[in-house]
Amino acid sequence: MQQFEEYAKLLVEVGVNIQEGQNLVIACPVECAWFARLCARAAYAAGCREVVMNWKDDALSREKYLHGADDVFDSVPAWQSAFYNGYAREGAAYLAISASDPENLKGVDTDRIVRSQRSSNTALEEFYRLQMSNGFPWCVASVPIPSWAQKAFPGLEADAAVAKLWDAIFAAVRVNGDGGAVERWRHHLATLKERVDKLNALDLESLHYTNSLGTDLTICLPEDHVWAGGSGVARSGVPFIANIPTEEIFTAPLRDGVDGVVYASMPLVHDGNIIDKFHFVVKAGRIVEAHAQVGEETLRAAISLDEGASRFGEVALVPYDSPISNQKLLYYNTLFDENASCHLAFGEAYPECVKGGEHMTKDELKERGLNDSITHVDFMVGTADLSIMGRTWDGKEVPIFIDGNFAL
Ligand code: ZN
Ligand code: ZN
Repeated sequence: MQQFEEYAKLLVEVGVNIQEGQNLVIACPVECAWFARLCARAAYAAGCREVVMNWKDDALSREKYLHGADDVFDSVPAWQSAFYNGYAREGAAYLAISASDPENLKGVDTDRIVRSQRSSNTALEEFYRLQMSNGFPWCVASVPIPSWAQKAFPGLEADAAVAKLWDAIFAAVRVNGDGGAVERWRHHLATLKERVDKLNALDLESLHYTNSLGTDLTICLPEDHVWAGGSGVARSGVPFIANIPTEEIFTAPLRDGVDGVVYASMPLVHDGNIIDKFHFVVKAGRIVEAHAQVGEETLRAAISLDEGASRFGEVALVPYDSPISNQKLLYYNTLFDENASCHLAFGEAYPECVKGGEHMTKDELKERGLNDSITHVDFMVGTADLSIMGRTWDGKEVPIFIDGNFAL
């Protein structure tokens, strides 16, 4: 029991860093209600004003996509936008426990998924904008549910798979029941900060990715770009950790400055479907070709959501030799898989990735070269033989990654 409590405490006190008198919204699958209760208890103990639940259920969501009336996917009920946007506006903390069957929406009409995403992204625009620009403290974390666990550990009974996935997650989030998780995280965040500082000091003009999968991609970076990683700081001045676990440091690419070919190194779970063995051809920042051996339709729908969905919004570095990568486990959950591998994201860029960006308007960010979209999807590109060569503004070449690992 101790590990579960230590984990809940980590998410509440370090993840969203709940403050006296602050509200906390918890999104959680119904299967893990017991874990949400542990988080709520930890939150109240830390002075939380009220814990508000946002229950998730894969089965009901699938039923809705299959059998709901067709116009359901074109709008969002007013109470739902009031809920998300309202709590975001007041600066409430947001803890999202993400756990889903990776293939929950397999066979569902892609058009319904796309329309639903568009309408929710429009209705909840204020929530997403504030989230992307650290307007409120938020943290995404995971706990196992049987359907997901059995995908990560095929061939095991549900209980055994869930137990194995818990072990893997505890190792990934540095929780072992001895009460030392917070201290280990402090140390880990310091390591990430060192890398961030080194990269910011280099002030790179571009990055060139190559590996044996066939990736040959040049990514120009905006002037005044900022590398970030580890903890962020909410508008209220309170630090928080947006993802637990997190192993990445990241910045934004120049919207029109990405060229070449990039191959995914792991499957991607997106919108309840698996996309695998895919690559993009990119010209002047735009994805002009997308090919996938599995899930091509889902992939093409994802990059056509709006104009910015076919451009890149994130460049993230994760060493091949790092804790989650070394587990050699495909989680089928982006939160973990992205922290096992260098990745890119298509869609929206984080405003904090350019100096002063959190206080800029969308137009100002665009002017600085950042991509704008209603979507943001990470996909993994790191391999054991990935090389990333940096280039400075005065034309000097600096190896950033050699053989999958930091060369700095
Ligand atoms: Zn990332
Ligand atoms: Zn991302």
